[in-house]
Amino acid sequence: MSARHHSQPLTLDLTLLPDRQIVAAYRIAEPTHALHFPNELGGYRVEAWRPEDGAFRWVTEGDGERVERADGRPFTAVSFVIPIDYRELPKSYAPFSPFSEGSTLIHSGQFHACPAAPCDNPDPLPILVEAVGATIGVGGRRSATRDRFVSRDDGTNIFVGTLEPVEADGFVAVIDTGLPPALRRILDRSLPQAMTYFASVYGPLSFTPELYVSIDDEPEKNGKVSTQGGTLPNQVFMHFDGENARERLAEEDPLWLEWFFAHEAAHLFQQDKAGGLASDNTVAWIHEGGADAMAALAMVQRGSTERSYAQSRLEQAQTACAQGLATSPLNRATAEGNFDLHYQCGLIIWLALDHDLRRNGNANTGLHDLNLAFFAAVRSGQSWSEPLLLQIGGHEGASQSLLKHITRLNDVRYTTGAVEELGQLARISLQSDE
Ligand SMILES: [Zn+2]
Repeated sequence: MSARHHSQPLTLDLTLLPDRQIVAAYRIAEPTHALHFPNELGGYRVEAWRPEDGAFRWVTEGDGERVERADGRPFTAVSFVIPIDYRELPKSYAPFSPFSEGSTLIHSGQFHACPAAPCDNPDPLPILVEAVGATIGVGGRRSATRDRFVSRDDGTNIFVGTLEPVEADGFVAVIDTGLPPALRRILDRSLPQAMTYFASVYGPLSFTPELYVSIDDEPEKNGKVSTQGGTLPNQVFMHFDGENARERLAEEDPLWLEWFFAHEAAHLFQQDKAGGLASDNTVAWIHEGGADAMAALAMVQRGSTERSYAQSRLEQAQTACAQGLATSPLNRATAEGNFDLHYQCGLIIWLALDHDLRRNGNANTGLHDLNLAFFAAVRSGQSWSEPLLLQIGGHEGASQSLLKHITRLNDVRYTTGAVEELGQLARISLQSDE
């Protein structure tokens, strides 16, 4: 270990143990009375992060939590033994996504902490990862036994294990060998298709994205089964967990998986071309509905089965959007616990814009031209927002009546009629190549 590592205010060593456990050892440059974590994670750390020294205890603090010595004395080091197990967490990616053959992903963001409160935005955290006999994949490199990096912002997934990546068209994939073969074939075909299609519209990505698909079918103590997918900078990942995960996966509609990967690929292009990942705290219909609409357009190109699937997703989205907006307007959806409305209503809004722009506008590729102009504006420093998007939509030639219907989704008095109008336009967008 270099001296530089230890002169930082806070550092973390993650050491893999042979029995599917990991030691997380924090070192703090200046003595502190507590180490603070920004999010409490629904009791997960209290249960699963066992301090190696029994003098420490966990204490909830606002939305976060802290670890401190029961006797109140200051300390400069604290370490935990943590089982490598998937855990479904509220509004947060799991700290571990194990693969069926024993490799794992570690989400570094769940280890971010602060030597002093308040801890809303922890500083970048230098992490040393050690795993004897394994490969460590982080920051686009793969190293034997140990590697170090600085985890910042939302963090990243660190790969630790022995699975070999597969280099495919424009991305690197690490896929669980337990994946049912039929699904493996779909994955091998559909992700490159999505990447190639988006690259033809938006230009190639400035980075090589990593794709991780993991399965852990060890039954959970609480009997939970779950599927989680997501995106972190340069990474797309999906995890299937709990009893019979493989069987459940084999029964999944393959088109649902194709849509999922096209959606996640769309996020990579949004992120790269706009110069950053939009946060869910911003108006989320733009990035979630936008990714769904990009997925729909990617799929309708592939054939009539895919087109029908995209059309059925649109119908479901319209029903759900209309029902949801009957009680809470779109700009209140997140606050009222109905985040899914951003996908459902967002899909309709974007496809309506797509058709309208292709029909009336000077944007002959519809949604894609609007995206290109919007991403460029965000990249040049304007903020990712609904007013900016609609303003650019207007410049591109979207009709004023359509733009008005979109803003009406934020006003519960007008939503029913507005959803209907948008739905009619959105359906035409998916009917055939105009
Ligand atoms: Zn998404």
